[in-house]
Amino acid sequence: MSIITREIAGYLNKSSWIRRMFEAGLELKQKYGPDKVSDFSLGNPDLPPVPAVAQSLRDLADRVDQPLSLGYMPNAGYPTLRQALADRLSQEQRVTLASEHVIVTCGAAGGLNTLFRAVLEAGDELVCPAPYFVEYGFYAGNFGGVLVPVPATPVTFSLDLDAIEKALTERTRVLLINSPNNPAGVIYSQEELVALCDMLRKHSERNGREVFLVSDEPYRFLAYDGVEVPPVLPLYPYSVVIGSFSKSLSIAGERIGYIAVSPQMPQVQDLVRGMIFTNRTLGYVNAPAIGQRIVEAALGANVDVDIYRQRRDCMANLLENAELEFRLPQGAFYFFPKVPGNGDDVQFCQMLQDECILAVPGRGFGYPGFIRLTYCMDKAVIERAVPGFKRAADRMRAS
Ligand code: PLP
Repeated sequence: MSIITREIAGYLNKSSWIRRMFEAGLELKQKYGPDKVSDFSLGNPDLPPVPAVAQSLRDLADRVDQPLSLGYMPNAGYPTLRQALADRLSQEQRVTLASEHVIVTCGAAGGLNTLFRAVLEAGDELVCPAPYFVEYGFYAGNFGGVLVPVPATPVTFSLDLDAIEKALTERTRVLLINSPNNPAGVIYSQEELVALCDMLRKHSERNGREVFLVSDEPYRFLAYDGVEVPPVLPLYPYSVVIGSFSKSLSIAGERIGYIAVSPQMPQVQDLVRGMIFTNRTLGYVNAPAIGQRIVEAALGANVDVDIYRQRRDCMANLLENAELEFRLPQGAFYFFPKVPGNGDDVQFCQMLQDECILAVPGRGFGYPGFIRLTYCMDKAVIERAVPGFKRAADRMRAS
């Protein structure tokens, strides 16, 4: 008899593909040396934090000997940061947000859990385009919710609106999108989002229960070639945006994110009060004090998107050289190319591993037949993988 629940034991037995590949990478690095391995498995933003972070820490050090300087605070975060976020998000989302529409959370991950705890009844469904960030299923499961993945159109990864419509039921409570997308790199267009909102409005009316549109946007700042990430808050009254500073300021370990709700939502203050309560009682209490001070000082700054763009172009060369079919990412820092030959994503990852290259099978994101590659690393790591990647792709095609 296990001392942990059957559910958690089941999750552990399955163990995430990302973790598995990351661990395989550590083994390879030990065996052959770190400079021989190209590990594209984990999306850990590797650029240094923006300069304003160091300055804010120095300023904070001068003030930290005051009483309560790192004490408890209102559960929704420092009021000054909430206001600053409301001002910034009003511009970004093209609606007028007040500080009461924003809660500071422990990253986007904490924000998703805080929201789900407040709106999900056991058995409620969350419809989500696949491929998707694998933690979504666990976050929904924390509160008895069930993730219902709907495959996106292959290779373009645009929303398959017909398939989404078919997946909506009377138990659907959340339609969860992530744009720019991890792992597909797609940014949903204004037209797709308008059509999606129209569908949700009709479904909610027919069903007598609102479906929330939740847009998870930790990569909003990371869009290339002038592509805009259309704001969802003006499109639908039951919309919620969740974001974070993990990637934009490169402070992922500091755990600061936010939830912003549409000011047009009927009973919006009930939802906000509910989420302030769940943020507290999930044990977060409030987002970290130092992280909030850093974000307040650095708000508006971003790491250099051009560095990621150069890496993206470098990885596109690697894939073209190996003759793989892929969509050039519009945003975020992942490629999701199609597996050549028989399309077996696990087999392809094994062949890449034989070349000291780590990738994650698409089935780990609910989308077999593809692999995910991260480009959170120096261009040199990508460049040295070019010949091995081609050999593995050729082997796949021949198998
Ligand atoms: N959502 C997506 C799509 C992500 O890729 C990540 C992290 O990689 C998160 C949420 C969680 O981010 P945070 O560090 O802000 O909790």
